[in-house]
Amino acid sequence: MDDGALPGLGRSDLVRRVQTPEFDGITFHEVLCKSALNKTPEASRLPFEYTVNTFRGCSHACRYCFARPTHEYLGLDAGHDFDAQLVVKTNVAAVLRRELARKSWKRQHVALGTNTDPYQRAEGRYRLMPGVIGALAESGTPFSILTKGTLLRRDLSLLTLASRQVDVRLSVSLAIGDLELQQQIEPGTPSPKARLDLIRAITDAGMSCHVMVAPVIPYLTDSRRHLEGLFAGLAAAGASGVTVIPMHLRGSTRGWFLSWLGSEHPALLPRYRRLYGRGAYVGREYTRWLEARVDPLVEQFGLGSGRKAPRTAALPAPVRERETIGPPTLF
Ligand code: SF4
Repeated sequence: MDDGALPGLGRSDLVRRVQTPEFDGITFHEVLCKSALNKTPEASRLPFEYTVNTFRGCSHACRYCFARPTHEYLGLDAGHDFDAQLVVKTNVAAVLRRELARKSWKRQHVALGTNTDPYQRAEGRYRLMPGVIGALAESGTPFSILTKGTLLRRDLSLLTLASRQVDVRLSVSLAIGDLELQQQIEPGTPSPKARLDLIRAITDAGMSCHVMVAPVIPYLTDSRRHLEGLFAGLAAAGASGVTVIPMHLRGSTRGWFLSWLGSEHPALLPRYRRLYGRGAYVGREYTRWLEARVDPLVEQFGLGSGRKAPRTAALPAPVRERETIGPPTLF
């Protein structure tokens, strides 16, 4: 532990820096945040106006993670630092409670899990989510959680109670059914089987569970065989519906993912060059091809119900946190 601050954080915001044997290779930067609610930009086209992120950085370490570039705002890199230099907003629940009590708060929908995973392993150590869930429910604020973290099971009874007070939407992200590939591409995440068990636990608790089949990784997870096996598992686990999104590679995420692809699947690099060009998105032709593959499977496995969202869609840019930590001049 020491009192050194990250370059992108004000020294006064840092409480302490912690390394602990249970989290080998990870450094926690425990901070006191000034605000908890982040307003999403008008132009973002997101279906929610506010987000809360209890952490910055994510030890789930997905190679394709679209939030990676947000770590650069902290003066950290979007590669290993994003996975291992984690900012923990230790006072997030108290600050959120204060913000939700303002007369000006109109109880708009709040989304969690948009930039980092609220149920990544660190949540087991810090237990931030029970306070966040309590604050949202008690203030009458509807909310949603998207996660790959099986730690959500710990809070299922709390979430069930909250869902009697406000609209609570739970989504699990699971797009790779192959264990070996999942461990290469999402090395810090729970296994596909563990996430299927989480979906089952959510539905057994009486809540519906949407699944983000995102991202579909061209030429690695888009085969009929892979998608069919995945959808069969999701249907058997009780998922209410799916949203399927092909991978996009914006900013520094592109280099991080392609360096892995080049070392593990070099033969795919020319195909990726053709598919993505110099941009971040797959072409329209691929999207249409994926839709044609996915739509019959969605019908076959009865995964078309639940929240209405495009079956295949591009995610908007990650929401950049403003003034959440540190003085505004930092950004
Ligand atoms: S779980 Fe989500 S936030 Fe975490 S690394 Fe993976 S994609 Fe990024």
